[in-house]
Amino acid sequence: MPKICVNIETDENNGCTHDRRDMKTLTEKEFRAAIFDLDGVIVDTVPLHFQAWKRMFEGYGRKFTFQDYKEKVDGIPRTDGCRAVLTDLSDEELLEATEIKQKYFLEYLEKGNIPVFESTIKLMTDLKNRGVKIAVISSSKNLPYISKRTGINKLVEVEISGNEITKGKPDPQIFLMAARETGISPENCVVFEDAILGVEAAKRAEMLCVGIDRHNDPRSLEQADIIVNDLSEINYDKLTSLFKGD
Ligand SMILES: [Mg+2]
Repeated sequence: MPKICVNIETDENNGCTHDRRDMKTLTEKEFRAAIFDLDGVIVDTVPLHFQAWKRMFEGYGRKFTFQDYKEKVDGIPRTDGCRAVLTDLSDEELLEATEIKQKYFLEYLEKGNIPVFESTIKLMTDLKNRGVKIAVISSSKNLPYISKRTGINKLVEVEISGNEITKGKPDPQIFLMAARETGISPENCVVFEDAILGVEAAKRAEMLCVGIDRHNDPRSLEQADIIVNDLSEINYDKLTSLFKGD
């Protein structure tokens, strides 16, 4: 006759299977930190980036569509994006091309206000007020400038930009650095991403990921744990239940 445990305190002594409920509670994922990608998630610089890339590539006689932008350059370091289109250039020439793109982008950026997604700012503010650590990441070296110009630096505890990383997405490095600097384990972090390679990087970092599908192409973000069109569809309670696996 198998023994039936009536008291888990004594089960080790009577040979019953150990009740693992308490252990599960200890290892359960907790919502402790939120890591926001910058471009396309917090600020709407995508049209500015696209125009800058297009103008630069056209200067080299290449056609460049919005589809090319999403597939080849969005969310990855400048030089890698450049190499994906200008495949026949030397490293030196590639560097020059990226500098031209950056010059065009800064020109567009300085011309006017930097558009911010209000729904994202609202969510960041709410999460911060509830004690969730907030980090912002960007493969771009423009992060410190944009952060100050838009005032998001007041909401954010950790910023990791293209100045700090050595490997671009889909390598998980940028997310793991953000987790380390906030002092929160990857399994307790959620990432907000709008780019294919960004979602892949977040999942490789073993973090929960909310995919933001701004261009009505949810299939490209299918690795994400949840896909929304805008962060107005997400709140603290919804994120907490994601961590619980509900
Ligand atoms: Mg992005």
